[in-house]
Amino acid sequence: FDNVKIDTQHPIENTLKKQAFYSKTDTTPLVVVENLKKYFPIKGGVFKTTIGNVQAVDNVSFSIQKGEAFGLVGESGCGKTTTGRMILNLLEPTAGKVHFQGIDVFSMARAQMRDLRKDLQIIFQDPYASLNPRMTVYDIVSECFIIHGNDSGLSLVDRVAALLKMVGMEPDHMRRYPHQFSGGQRQRIGIARAIALNPKFIVCDEPVSALDVSIQAQIINLLEDLQEKLGLTYLFIAHDLSVVKHISDRIAVMYLGKIVEMAKTESFFNNTLHPYSKALLSSVPIPDMTTKRERIILQGDVPSPSNPPKGCRFHTRCKYAMDICRKIEPRLLDTGSDHFAACHLIN
Ligand code: SF4
Repeated sequence: FDNVKIDTQHPIENTLKKQAFYSKTDTTPLVVVENLKKYFPIKGGVFKTTIGNVQAVDNVSFSIQKGEAFGLVGESGCGKTTTGRMILNLLEPTAGKVHFQGIDVFSMARAQMRDLRKDLQIIFQDPYASLNPRMTVYDIVSECFIIHGNDSGLSLVDRVAALLKMVGMEPDHMRRYPHQFSGGQRQRIGIARAIALNPKFIVCDEPVSALDVSIQAQIINLLEDLQEKLGLTYLFIAHDLSVVKHISDRIAVMYLGKIVEMAKTESFFNNTLHPYSKALLSSVPIPDMTTKRERIILQGDVPSPSNPPKGCRFHTRCKYAMDICRKIEPRLLDTGSDHFAACHLIN
């Protein structure tokens, strides 16, 4: 890897820039998720028969426009990561459909799916666990070219060097192993791997949750820069609303496997509608010491997804719960200006 020199107008960077043809104003959905469900069976008894189901994701529908960053927020175990993995066809759904550029992802043959993998990538939460400690950075980033081919006309060393530069690292870092880097640098390597094949869509699965707050901002800024340069579309999964606020164009809040509110980011923060979203938002610290926000403390634990409450799944913790909430499940309806909420109080 000696004498690797990268100039700012490196061919790979230019190639990637040319692919940035998805503008923020393009309203064609890149990803359409329809009634997606994932139930994990609970086995029991002598014959290990199915005695119940964990309803991880239940009837989730949304679409993501080209060039958009769509934030999916909720507490741990609400089904957001399961949703992201099903969209990438890494997890088989119990029911529902996912279309990517109009193609039904779940009906694809294995060979077709292998080709589509180039367009669909993921950035994992834990940058240490997701990088093989026995592989150098060069091996990690170049592996995808060995699987999918290198048709750029550049050597693998040059390609890896250019990718490292794009994520703010030095080309000679490619000789090192993951343990020789900080958490933020490791996440940059994970990002370099994710963008290596010029994908169109990336699931960012809590990419900053495991990092220090100061590093989180750097990684979010890097993801924003790359989105603009490369025309990427993101599904950005997080449990922290302050993280998704910065990067997302639209936000959906999940609770116990269902979307309870979905809106443009500005509309969501200016006019939060659902009681659960309000509780989540109240836990976000405000940097201005003079401004006070009422903190909403939710009572009780999140119910088990193997036995979710009837009616509104949030009724066991909602201070506004009415009789109807315990019997009839509220539908996710548009309250105006594409601001959706699932609550009897609102609809
Ligand atoms: Fe609360 Fe009822 Fe609305 Fe559910 S439907 S969030 S229980 S008011």
